[in-house]
Amino acid sequence: MKFEDYHIAPEIKRSLDTAGFKKPTDIQFKAIPAIMKGEDVLAIAQTGTGKTAAFAIPVIDKLHKQKVSSRSEGIKCVVMVPTRELAIQITEVFAKLAQHTRVKAFSVFGGVEQGPQIAQLEKGIDVLVSTPGRMFDLVSQGHIKLDRIEVLILDEADHMLDLGFIKDIQDLIKFLPKSRQTLFFSATINEKIKKLAYSLVRNAIRIQI
Ligand code: AMP
Repeated sequence: MKFEDYHIAPEIKRSLDTAGFKKPTDIQFKAIPAIMKGEDVLAIAQTGTGKTAAFAIPVIDKLHKQKVSSRSEGIKCVVMVPTRELAIQITEVFAKLAQHTRVKAFSVFGGVEQGPQIAQLEKGIDVLVSTPGRMFDLVSQGHIKLDRIEVLILDEADHMLDLGFIKDIQDLIKFLPKSRQTLFFSATINEKIKKLAYSLVRNAIRIQI
């Protein structure tokens, strides 16, 4: 199976071609069709497996097919991540794969001034990639609205728990619509991670790489 055989937008196929991505990796082969069908996913996958594109490709495809103008209708997808570095890295993958579409991704994280982040949020974005702490602050202050979220993604969930983000994650979930798609990615699994995962996903497809 090659990317050219997938029912994804030609604009995304063009970016995949430029990136030199011809065939899906294992995680992409398993996750992309499930995500495109609207299923929740619980995936155990390490960095280096291609997990970022595994969620970015179907999310960009979904939002691209919805988007009729370059104006954002509000944030449609949030990606919660443990660190600033990962936030930046994931946003770059979204930007690269969405370059021929109108889908815009942006990252916010703690440890830097809020002002420039707020200014960018006000311009309108479709995908927000953020550490849970800064996301919670901006939501509490009314700078981020989560009521139009269609897809929630948690990446490196085990690392987020290790860093003590559990309370921020649980507080943020309360702002999200109940009818949403949830994609939960973790490199490792234990009882604590399972408990968080199953409090968020519904009838998830389980993928282990
Ligand atoms: P990740 O696990 O998301 O950090 O991705 C690991 C690396 O694999 C990144 O450098 C990607 O650019 C690369 N990559 C992801 N998907 C593919 C693919 N289908 N073909 C070739 N390289 C890929």
